[in-house]
Amino acid sequence: MPDSSLTIADLPDLVAVLSTEEQARWDRLFRVDAAVGELAPPAGMEPWIREHFGSVDAVRRQQIVKVTNLIMLEGALFNTTRSRRPFDSRETIDLDALVAASAGGPFCHPLEATPADVFGRVEGATCVTASNIAKCDTWHGLIIWNEHHPLRFTRDAVHDAVDTALAWAEQARDHDREARYFFFLWNCLWPSGASIIHGHAQMTLTRGMHYAHIERWRRTAAWYRLAHGVNYFDDLLAVHKSLGLAISVGEARIMPSLTPIKHQETVVLAPTLGPDLVDAVYDVLAAFVERLGVVAFNLGLYLPPWDAVPEDWTGFPAIVRIESRGEPGVRSSDLGAMELFASSVVTGDPFQVADAIRAHLGDR
Ligand SMILES: [Zn+2]
Repeated sequence: MPDSSLTIADLPDLVAVLSTEEQARWDRLFRVDAAVGELAPPAGMEPWIREHFGSVDAVRRQQIVKVTNLIMLEGALFNTTRSRRPFDSRETIDLDALVAASAGGPFCHPLEATPADVFGRVEGATCVTASNIAKCDTWHGLIIWNEHHPLRFTRDAVHDAVDTALAWAEQARDHDREARYFFFLWNCLWPSGASIIHGHAQMTLTRGMHYAHIERWRRTAAWYRLAHGVNYFDDLLAVHKSLGLAISVGEARIMPSLTPIKHQETVVLAPTLGPDLVDAVYDVLAAFVERLGVVAFNLGLYLPPWDAVPEDWTGFPAIVRIESRGEPGVRSSDLGAMELFASSVVTGDPFQVADAIRAHLGDR
């Protein structure tokens, strides 16, 4: 079992003791640069620093770990000191009270207060579909759960949502055979971008080609297979496994990302979108909420198209990316110019995420 006291700061040492083969794979996919950032606080600032950061030494020398995925060119800068920095706009909020106060809105009465798709609605055991009133794309539906509280989802409700979204996609494709590319997404609570407080997920079907980020993953993985003769996702999984960052749930594999977009990205892979993948997704979300105190998250599903398309999707698995997002009581967005234009700045730690998921699975 991996040592649960590991942190991202140990990454250079962990890489250094990998076997020759594992190290070659790491070098092909990743690069880590670790260094210390130093500063000189004036004496008058020291009591304030101690109050907010615990000690003056904690800010005087700060360990920065920069990880770059050399294939996808995604990168993250880890510095745990930043998680303790003060916010002018931080308020203490009672999340459950705020969620309760928002009850009674349109998603509490979807049949009367939300539009249907032109083909009607799909009803699941715990949810019903609606058509998004302001569409992101030609086909843009909603999964509206019966449960109002966005964080009170069950394993069955997550399975039901995915099944219902797929049934919705079947109906939409009957109306539009050109809409071949399916995307399932879930924004939970307002720091994630969700505009309505009520349990809901979303799905789209798009035409022509898949969305740019997904096409970049497909194209890059196809290039990797040509260049190295191996499946990119197999290698990505092998790297995470060699570092103690891969967890199995049936045929699904969970990997806390070394290059999260924000905080605690976790990638879940399976050969196909089946029950194991959805179980693993639920387990990651449950670990996020119950063990890591996450209240807001984004989730996106990357899936090869079902129909014949011009691109080669060989070896592309079903992939779910889950991202924790911000704090409900902090008004400033957790995405700034660094994330948009340079590299993600991250306060989470993939090793601690792995520990939380393992602890959750052990308790199941
Ligand atoms: Zn509601």
